[in-house]
Amino acid sequence: MSEFTVLNPATERPVTTVAQADAEETDAAIARAVTAQQAWRAVAPGDRAALLRRFAAAVDAHIGELADLEVAGSGHPLGQATWEAGHVRDVLLYYSATPERLIGKQIPVPGGLNVTFHEPVGVVGLIVPWNFPMPIFSWGMAPALASGNTVVAKPAQLTPLTAIRIAELALDAGLPEGVLQVLPGQGSVVGQRLVDHPQVRKIVFTGSTEVGSQVMAGCARYIKRVTLELGGKSANIVFADSDLDRAAATAPYAVFDNAGQDCCARSRILVQHSVLDRFMELLEPAVKNVAVGDPADPGTEMGPLISAAHRQHVASYVPDGAPVAFRGSAPDGPGFWFPPTVLAPVGADDPAYTEEVFGPVVTVTPFEDEADAVAIANDTPYGLSGSIWTSDVGRAIRVSRAVETGALSVNSHSSVRYWTPFGGFKQSGLGRELGPDAPDAFTETKNVFIATD
Ligand code: NDP
Repeated sequence: MSEFTVLNPATERPVTTVAQADAEETDAAIARAVTAQQAWRAVAPGDRAALLRRFAAAVDAHIGELADLEVAGSGHPLGQATWEAGHVRDVLLYYSATPERLIGKQIPVPGGLNVTFHEPVGVVGLIVPWNFPMPIFSWGMAPALASGNTVVAKPAQLTPLTAIRIAELALDAGLPEGVLQVLPGQGSVVGQRLVDHPQVRKIVFTGSTEVGSQVMAGCARYIKRVTLELGGKSANIVFADSDLDRAAATAPYAVFDNAGQDCCARSRILVQHSVLDRFMELLEPAVKNVAVGDPADPGTEMGPLISAAHRQHVASYVPDGAPVAFRGSAPDGPGFWFPPTVLAPVGADDPAYTEEVFGPVVTVTPFEDEADAVAIANDTPYGLSGSIWTSDVGRAIRVSRAVETGALSVNSHSSVRYWTPFGGFKQSGLGRELGPDAPDAFTETKNVFIATD
């Protein structure tokens, strides 16, 4: 049996080793999930809801432990990791309301009545990336379970620890064996098997556009349902009429949150030409004040990158001679550190401007007017997120409608909430997660005609 050593990204020291599942073990887990699903879908809605609430309570009772695991295994700052563990609890509680609300319609027709039912799809394969191991795991897992499906989840090789622990908590809370299984292993082995196996009826994948495209092609073989959350290259658009102080003060957190390893990172700041100089004066201290350091320190705002290989990848976007306007700080010594970095001015063909860096690197580009801002924002194959800063309500709405992206914020740098839909336009993905309609993606609508004549 092969093992993977999880490293602490802040120290480069081993945290623990995790056994890696192979294709046969994946098949066995899928078989258990198929069996368990027959019983799970038959659990009375109120009882399924109660089990999910007990699961949420078990997570709540272990928030500190889960946060510590994420600090050690993923390098997330303690405050963020604590929030993330609480988020898993909240997502479970939100979707614990689903079982009792999975109601259909009755449609009068000549000679009878049609009724509709929301039937679970069956076994759901959940493929989770390393950047937000807890939240992204919960976004697929909670609505899938609530809708009567069973779940086989593959965490990222680099960051499996919290998902493994959360699945143990599910068992402790009384979820039956086989309803939620976490299978650590390689994407090309476990993830691929989930995609290829005919009895996995839906895949929820979050990760790179490249692998997402392969997953989608694999799902085509069995017309498997698929939700994809992929990359982003989002714009933070700052108009001259905005509260420039707030826009500049929050811009670092819009892109350097989780060390920039965030598909929603606003990694292109677009600033109206007339206020560019003033904006840069305000942005510089904001960037330099980001507290980068030991993730276990409660005051830390930004931790290390996930791995040495990823740091090398991020560094390739800031080669010698790159147009660095200014940078924040980062610790020396062990750990995969990279300082917050602002690039300006950048050429339109600079990879830091055109590609998803997935690290703490942001570009600043001026624009002339509203039409110019929208054109620049949309000049990317991605369309996941973004922000608009303006005091003109009409402009806020016009630009929101014109930017081709799934989750926008006006005069704010955050746009992801579990009770609102999340997902991308263009190559940023397919389908929507979160929000009240998420269970629709985990059920099939069945339509039954009942003759009355
Ligand atoms: P990947 O797309 O490679 O990995 C995401 C998940 O898919 C992981 O669990 C991975 O497993 C799994 N996987 C890999 N290959 C396959 C496969 N053939 N079949 C099924 N599952 C597979 O992303 P990376 O982690 O390599 O990151 C690369 C880039 O992707 C980042 O730099 C960023 O641009 C983007 N990304 C975007 C994310 C987002 O939130 N939208 C999240 C993560 C990455 P494992 O890694 O364990 O082998």
